[in-house]
Amino acid sequence: MLNNAKVVDLTIPLGTDIIMWPGAPSPEMETVVTVAHDGYFARRVSFFEHTGTHFDAPCHFIEGKATVDQIPASTLVRPAVVIDISAEIAGDADAVLTLEHVKAFEAKNGEIPKGAAILLRTGWEDFNSDSVKYAGPEGDLHFPGFGVEAAKYLVNEREAAGLGIDTLGIDPGNKADFPVHSQVSHPKGLWHLENLQNLKALPPIGAWIVVGVLPLVGGSGSPARVIALVP
Ligand SMILES: [Zn+2]
Repeated sequence: MLNNAKVVDLTIPLGTDIIMWPGAPSPEMETVVTVAHDGYFARRVSFFEHTGTHFDAPCHFIEGKATVDQIPASTLVRPAVVIDISAEIAGDADAVLTLEHVKAFEAKNGEIPKGAAILLRTGWEDFNSDSVKYAGPEGDLHFPGFGVEAAKYLVNEREAAGLGIDTLGIDPGNKADFPVHSQVSHPKGLWHLENLQNLKALPPIGAWIVVGVLPLVGGSGSPARVIALVP
């Protein structure tokens, strides 16, 4: 089944210049040993848990919920459903995925299967090397996200395993109270993937994703290599 699958990397390469959530520290990378001096090369790297293409564990917003190491590997290999609203929202940084968008998606593609990772393509991945376009001007966050009603439907009616997006966060940038994180997805034990890219290479239904997140003991999340398999 996988012999002919196309492999698509949904991950932004992780360097020190990656766009961060405002106020969060950028990654630091220090060369510890070199081939010339020591016979081998290695660096010491430190990063905020929510850096680049990354995973949010439910404990990120809800005390007592699962930490990243407690997420079973079986839930990290999931069918992917890709809802692409990039054309409809046409660059509106305050747009959200609405329940109408989801219903229209199902009318066209069939019912969203249970247990899927729902990946929202807003088109913001095109801006992920320009912080003002990607996140908004300093101190004034704007980027599209999941609307609360759509998220509730995906979580409660379609029993999604996780939510993913090609922006800095699942909630739209102008929602400072993070309603999806705090009221809809994490309370139900769902995880998130943020800062995805290359979603346009996936079909609406039929691909799978493998979420290669670090099992940091007690962690709230971690950078992740997210790989899609397209049959
Ligand atoms: Zn995060």
